[in-house]
Amino acid sequence: MSERPLVQMSNLVKEFPVTGGIFQRQIATVNAVAGVDLSINRGETVGLVGESGCGKSTLGRMLVRLLEPTSGTIVFDGEDITHIKGKKLKPFRRRAQIIFQDPYSSLDPRTQVGNSIAEGLKLHGVSNSDERQERVTKMLELVGLEGHHAGRFPHEFSGGQRQRIGLARALVLEPDFVVADEPVSALDVSVQAQVLNLLKELQSELNLTLLFVAHNLAVVEHISDRVAVMYLGRIAEITDRESLYRNPLHPYTEALLSAIPIPDPDRPRNRTILQGEVPSPIDPPSGCFFHPRCPIAVKGLCDVEVPSLQQSETSADHLASCHVRTGSYKHQDSSK
Ligand code: SF4
Repeated sequence: MSERPLVQMSNLVKEFPVTGGIFQRQIATVNAVAGVDLSINRGETVGLVGESGCGKSTLGRMLVRLLEPTSGTIVFDGEDITHIKGKKLKPFRRRAQIIFQDPYSSLDPRTQVGNSIAEGLKLHGVSNSDERQERVTKMLELVGLEGHHAGRFPHEFSGGQRQRIGLARALVLEPDFVVADEPVSALDVSVQAQVLNLLKELQSELNLTLLFVAHNLAVVEHISDRVAVMYLGRIAEITDRESLYRNPLHPYTEALLSAIPIPDPDRPRNRTILQGEVPSPIDPPSGCFFHPRCPIAVKGLCDVEVPSLQQSETSADHLASCHVRTGSYKHQDSSK
């Protein structure tokens, strides 16, 4: 029998009200996450990719309970944590942490970084200050800094070093699950690779289960076991890394892949240029959310029926939300 996933979400939805007028009444709803089913296995890294505003960060924040889901369920290690509060939330917080995109804004500029890292330990009952100091030193060394850096302030570090401090802060409680929310997007390209490699090393050393959120497929390629592509609050496609990069099914994944720069300018490539902008999550299109931009949309089907996340014809582990590419609609799709 296969081991149960560490994190399992079912039909997860997050809506935000939009208010307006003198009385600040609700005038619309932002459908940030529109029904996501996804499991993350123990020790696995899942890359979650999509354009800005597709709901990926909202999803990550719900998983660590920084945001309350509107509906659906989140099961963590066999326990339904969708709406846990108060005392029940504390042990969960120790096991599930988040790394933010901008470590500078998540660190208090007037607090020495050692104290920022130790904060979580204090909150979770490590009352002995020597023990806290020892664990902070160990953690700083683990992320490639030095113990004496604990006495410095955030502005004394470079962007890459600050993200290392962000990693130390998230990992000091020895969590099982970490959401890394665009952890390298604010860094220079040269530093990105260092932080990614470090995260990969730490993931395997500490046997972490990781959800790595990014807006670019190139960033998650080397770190992910599986990759999920998100579009307007729904999962468009999910499969193992190799299948996704070699044999993408969803037209949106193809477009994202074709946008990754390749180092050899003479190598031919088929670029898929997407038409139009990402539609508003306040008023998403009918049927398949991607149909207004999809080069192979079928009129009368894609604009009417919502495609469900289905297995492909060739692999039970390769799922896509597409009437055409999952074989539920047979037509002369010459592009595949
Ligand atoms: Fe394109 Fe239709 Fe597939 Fe949506 S369901 S991705 S519109 S072909």
